[in-house]
Amino acid sequence: MRRVVCSGSFDPVTNGHIDIIGRAAQQYDEVVAAVLNNINKRGLFSVEEKLEMLRECTAEFSNVRVAEFNGLLVDYCRENGIDMIVRSLRSVSDFDYELQIAQMNYRLSGIETMFMTANPQYSFLSSSLVKEVAQYGGDVSSLVTPNVEQRLREKYKTA
Ligand code: ADP
Repeated sequence: MRRVVCSGSFDPVTNGHIDIIGRAAQQYDEVVAAVLNNINKRGLFSVEEKLEMLRECTAEFSNVRVAEFNGLLVDYCRENGIDMIVRSLRSVSDFDYELQIAQMNYRLSGIETMFMTANPQYSFLSSSLVKEVAQYGGDVSSLVTPNVEQRLREKYKTA
């Protein structure tokens, strides 16, 4: 049984995240979509809200489970029988950052990181950009699912 983790802040989950999670779910037996619960960095959404949105967005994938973690991702992996981390590369700047993290994670634990290339349709997309657009009432309907769009509207009290 091949169990992998797709980790992230998911503040909020976007169509780019869902694309990667769905593609990973085709390659592996089980995918854990794990939300980092970072006590030092509060996001726009609470961890509970992020988990709910992720659950709603991944309900169509029978082998995807949603969870939260704190501390080191490699510790979470070891404790949960996860033997691989799946991350995505949108651009060269992602690569620089992700390479370091992947090498550190391997050094700490021997856990491998697999990289999937972002769908070009979403390679410009990030949670922070979605928030910036939504904050000023811009249309994010092709970037996030309707439930996430609704929650963004509620947060920013736009329409
Ligand atoms: P983190 O703070 O850990 O980078 P994110 O939620 O921004 O958390 O990203 C989590 C993962 O999802 C990363 O591997 C990131 O590259 C990937 N990701 C983010 N946005 C997209 C996108 N638009 N298309 C594909 N993958 C994405």
